[in-house]
Amino acid sequence: MTKRALITGISGQDGAYLSKFLLDKGYEVYGIVRRSSHRGVDNHRLLWIGVWDKVKLFDGDLGDLSSLMRIVNEVMPDEVYNLAAQSFVTSSWQQPILTANITAIGVTNMLEALRSAKPDARFYQASSSEMFGLIQESVQSETTPFYPRSPYAVAKLYGHWITVNYRESYNIHASSGILFNHESPLRGAEFVTRKVTTAAAMIKLGLQSELKLGNIDAKRDWGHARDYVEAMWLMLQQDRPDDYVIATGKTTTVRDMCKIAMDYLELDFDKFVKIDPDLYRPAEVDILLGDPSKAKAKLGWEPSITLEDMIREMVDADLERLKK
Ligand code: GDP
Repeated sequence: MTKRALITGISGQDGAYLSKFLLDKGYEVYGIVRRSSHRGVDNHRLLWIGVWDKVKLFDGDLGDLSSLMRIVNEVMPDEVYNLAAQSFVTSSWQQPILTANITAIGVTNMLEALRSAKPDARFYQASSSEMFGLIQESVQSETTPFYPRSPYAVAKLYGHWITVNYRESYNIHASSGILFNHESPLRGAEFVTRKVTTAAAMIKLGLQSELKLGNIDAKRDWGHARDYVEAMWLMLQQDRPDDYVIATGKTTTVRDMCKIAMDYLELDFDKFVKIDPDLYRPAEVDILLGDPSKAKAKLGWEPSITLEDMIREMVDADLERLKK
């Protein structure tokens, strides 16, 4: 029997990479999208990765339980990947209640829909390294205490624990992947890697004269989305659901990440990068560094793409897009 996967947030970066990954494995892939009256469905990532005509989409919203119930009843999925969220940290200070409704309560809506209509479906929750926030241990693992530092991270923490709770309360095969930052040419323009690679390409082509950044001393453990979606799938293939940190085990400053992009295009970092205090956050996560050893031991998962290769791939893709 062909397996059916249902993906919330299918139009996002991870939704696109996961769709491609699952289709290549022979899955039928269904997705939930929010349609807007003026822009329709945001399909550019699914088009870019070449799966737009291979996935089946339903209109729905994590904030709307009845839409989730209807879709689960219709699809009867074997696996559900909950990737949808208001996921931009900075916006979460502007819209903390919306962030809570979607990023936190939305998880319960999805779990409730499954519990009533398809309780044997396997569930993946996209948890986030931002939950570690003000880090309590220098290297963060599944046992590190959380200390969220933004409304987004607070909401993700709820999503994580409700996933654990449904697993323990109702015996649902629900796993939480605590994924550290993961990027790709499909990363949203508001995230720092993509902002940097797009700006570097623009500067190289003479379309922009400088790049404004906030706290470039912040450090992140950056991996590639293509590697990370495989870890999501592996979690749902295990006999027992569990929680896993997915990370590279290396951390890099925003400054050095930016220098990789600038050096690749032979641009002078000091000449083009300007610090804009308005881009600093009300509360910062200074450093994240994950320990992926449980994922390696239990899932056999390891990252395969280096930060250097990923940033260069992103710069090349941005150059190509801009030249078109
Ligand atoms: P996050 O870890 O989910 O918040 O991912 P981001 O890519 O949005 O931000 C990563 C880090 O880069 C944070 O510590 C930001 O404060 C820092 N940063 C510095 N300048 C910028 C900027 O101009 N835009 C963004 N998004 N982040 C920036």
